[in-house]
Amino acid sequence: NLAISEGEIFGYLFSRGIKMRGVQCIDRDVVKMICREYEVEVIDADPTRVEDMARKKEILDEEDLDSLEDRPPVLTIMGHVDHGKTTLLDYIRTSKVVASEAGGITQGIGAYVVPVPIDGKLQTCVFLDTPGHEAFGAMRARGARVTDIAIIVVAADDGIRPQTNEAIAHAKAAGVPIVVAINKIDKDGANPDRVMEELASIGLMPEDWGGDVPMVQVSALKGDNVDELLETVMLVAELQDLKANPHRSAKGTVIEAGLDKSKGPIATFIVQNGTLKKGDIIISGEAFGKVRALFDEKGNHVDQAGPSIPVQVIGLNNVPIAGDEFEVVSSLDAAREKAEARAEALKNDHIATQAGYGKVTLSSLASAVSRGRLSGLDVHQLNIVMKVDVQGSIEAITQALRVLPQDNVTLKFLLQSPGDISTSDVDLAVVTKAIILGFNVKAPGSVKTHADNKGVEIRLYKVIYDLIDDVRKAMEGLLEPVE
Ligand code: GDP
Repeated sequence: NLAISEGEIFGYLFSRGIKMRGVQCIDRDVVKMICREYEVEVIDADPTRVEDMARKKEILDEEDLDSLEDRPPVLTIMGHVDHGKTTLLDYIRTSKVVASEAGGITQGIGAYVVPVPIDGKLQTCVFLDTPGHEAFGAMRARGARVTDIAIIVVAADDGIRPQTNEAIAHAKAAGVPIVVAINKIDKDGANPDRVMEELASIGLMPEDWGGDVPMVQVSALKGDNVDELLETVMLVAELQDLKANPHRSAKGTVIEAGLDKSKGPIATFIVQNGTLKKGDIIISGEAFGKVRALFDEKGNHVDQAGPSIPVQVIGLNNVPIAGDEFEVVSSLDAAREKAEARAEALKNDHIATQAGYGKVTLSSLASAVSRGRLSGLDVHQLNIVMKVDVQGSIEAITQALRVLPQDNVTLKFLLQSPGDISTSDVDLAVVTKAIILGFNVKAPGSVKTHADNKGVEIRLYKVIYDLIDDVRKAMEGLLEPVE
């Protein structure tokens, strides 16, 4: 929000011999020059970088910093149903993985390693096997940060649909860079330009138009341009500077787990730091044990798995939960102790959530605002996930909310989409500390239960005025608690 008009800046640049045409990126030095001229401070406000740093810090410890090495990117494919996620994943799997393994049969372990030729050299990337934002959101709601890059698939003959919006919202909330695959370009009626326009209108500006979101036009069915897509993804990965320390004991995330009749509890881990080895003592949540065997996605025995590599593990005493962390500890006794401590902590956590600690609701916002008013200036941000009956309602409600005075509270919409409230919406609200507003939509019982467990408020309305009025009162600190 600049106090200087665009025209003024254009004029100034013109006087320095720099011609601007419409929306255009200007480089850092020019920005600095403008800021000097107008005496404003330059702040690097790239939220994804901040998230990125936080993510690196969470997984890496201080002592890792001297031993960092490059690691492969971990990718997730998301998008609307029938836009071609599975077809794309299958094409990549069959053309890349099996071909390079001379007819080997991949067994589903939840993720797999794909070699990508870049400048004649094979580089590795890792795909999570469950396409869709539901799995992504559920993992994130458990605190897991596994995905480095999200590939959003949009069908060129259909354009942005509700689940496209949801997928983008989840990727953005996670601070994960997006690469768009505009799919089905082989089809009659495919209109990639229109899709790009739609994406631009919701804030994903194509690189080709001077923005920062790479978009590749592909046919997942025929395989056209899929190599180009993978190369683009690898370029984005390179910019992310993905690193880990392979020379230490492993930690990472459970991405799949279950009970095998003959093998017992079986789980797929993605190692995020360190190297997991046969014989290591591992703990994940309340499950622990000694690694008896490790398998790759082809079912081969392996002795170890380094950073970003998915590996199936047997030896746990219990089935761990997807999205939970795992780590290597020094002894079985230490593991047992930790597991018990966790069980206890989990119980308390549950009690805290039930008691509504830290829960974001319209009435908790209202009381924070009225407290802030008594104690002086305090600006709050209310994050909103909004689900409505039809697209038209989005504009109507957003318009009405946007004109409310935002002196005490600013509103941020993480998602505005038609459709009933889903568990994935609740997961998004968990991660972003948002409330969910529904207009003329339902929240199924299972979704309500999930929201209660996670401490997320869902408010359903049938009359637009009531919705606006509640939000307005909350923003003014006037909303009475409902309980
Ligand atoms: P998902 O629900 O996103 O996983 O979508 P699917 O991969 O199941 O694809 C839905 C339908 O679109 C299937 O009938 C696919 O064969 C078809 N499809 C996917 N990609 C393409 C493509 O590039 N071109 C054409 N013509 N059809 C495609």
